[in-house]
Amino acid sequence: MNAPLLSINNVSKKFGAVVALENVSLHVGAGEFFALLGPSGCGKTTLMRCIAGFEAPDAGAIALNGVDLSGVPPFRRPVNMMFQSYALFPHLDVFENIAFGLRRQGEAKDAIDTRVEELLAMTQLSNLGRRRIDELSGGQKQRVALARALAPRPKMLLLDEPLGALDRKLREETQFQLKEIQRLTQTSFVIVTHDQDEALALADRIAVMRAGRVEQVAGPMEIYDRPATRFVAGFVGETNFIEGRLVRNSGAALIAEFGRIPCEPGDLPEGAQATLSVRPERIGVEREGEGIAGFVENFVFRGETTLLRVRVAENVVLRAAAGHGERYAIGDSVRLSFPPGAGTLLAEER
Ligand code: ATP
Repeated sequence: MNAPLLSINNVSKKFGAVVALENVSLHVGAGEFFALLGPSGCGKTTLMRCIAGFEAPDAGAIALNGVDLSGVPPFRRPVNMMFQSYALFPHLDVFENIAFGLRRQGEAKDAIDTRVEELLAMTQLSNLGRRRIDELSGGQKQRVALARALAPRPKMLLLDEPLGALDRKLREETQFQLKEIQRLTQTSFVIVTHDQDEALALADRIAVMRAGRVEQVAGPMEIYDRPATRFVAGFVGETNFIEGRLVRNSGAALIAEFGRIPCEPGDLPEGAQATLSVRPERIGVEREGEGIAGFVENFVFRGETTLLRVRVAENVVLRAAAGHGERYAIGDSVRLSFPPGAGTLLAEER
């Protein structure tokens, strides 16, 4: 992380009896693309509203560039927010929507014109400056909202489910644009999303939240490959949870009811009951060989892979991804192999 721009220290917030945030601490670097990820109700919007100044924490502190923000009203914070609804002004055209914040700040006309043209170009709206808002597509509206939020050069932009209103195809395209615009402007972006794919695709680092707390903060690959808790492993991507007993001698492994799976034991003691999280695509699928025997109970074609549900014991079904071109039928016998480091041993649940 670069020098921390935003520091959130031990922030808590309740609404009556509902604990929305509990002792949250986070740091976001200058120029960083940061995601707050979690299921509905986990407190991510509340945290964003505390950063923007629309909500005040009950306890803890939020500082930007080392300056404490408590008591600073939203419009005096060097932070801007892009709302999921976009909140564009329907009576103004695209150009005037983007110019709005600059005019309110009393900037000179020439400076405003230059800045708006720059943003129109960056968001690929150059020939739409004089369009009315209701004559735009969903994707175009989203870009106007982004340009408007960036116009006053905030140090940090808060984006609440920025792609939530777009259809799937457009979302993917817009992810690339959003990433590119963040890179060009070098503004810190903090997005709120419940969509794990979006967080993995966009962010430099992700905070996974659950019930008002932060479960893990890390880069996308680490979150995916080394989830810290069972919740993170299950929420981000698909996984198998395999229960067993840890043995450490002669190559550490988890002894599950259906076989022995090599793993990195961390600091768990010999004989500990543990859970291993293994992603379906990390499991090797063969028709025969040394691996753990099972049979295909069901499968779904996913394009690049086929996701198999493989029964390996009376009470255990594992999900494993077979490569492109491999055709399996229900009832086929398969062998599953677990390369060293395929899984992550999970910490006990709190
Ligand atoms: P979503 O993705 O559904 O927006 P979220 O993770 O953003 O969820 P928050 O909106 O931050 O979650 O809400 C956290 C908790 O606080 C929820 O239980 C919610 O019902 C509660 N809450 C949020 N705002 C208020 C409010 N103004 N008054 C009362 N309860 C609130």
